Amino acid sequence: MHETMVAQSLLSTISAEAAKRSAKPVSAKISCGVLNAINDDVLCFAFDAIAKDTACEGMKLEIEHKQLQGRCKSCAEIFEFELCQPVCPKCGSGDFELQPDAALVLEEIEFSTE
Ligand SMILES: [Zn+2]
Repeated sequence: MHETMVAQSLLSTISAEAAKRSAKPVSAKISCGVLNAINDDVLCFAFDAIAKDTACEGMKLEIEHKQLQGRCKSCAEIFEFELCQPVCPKCGSGDFELQPDAALVLEEIEFSTE
């Protein structure tokens, strides 16, 4: 399952970072594109399951879904593409190209300060 693989890779990255700092991670912020289709609940559940008995146990994951972006061919404006209104918000042109979907990124990890 997609989310399980993502959870595993997050866990290994966070564990490595935690070991480097000798600190306990309490939460992490992740962002991904809408086409990545990560299910928040499934990911958190998968993460909880594999994080049990590790330094990451009980961590909170916050997932931000980034909108697909379009780039206007007339004025080069980069904007958040919306299916219900697929035009450039700056000049109103419908001639644009879609930018690649945002990758899954681990934005930040918060560690316990104790
Ligand atoms: Zn434009």
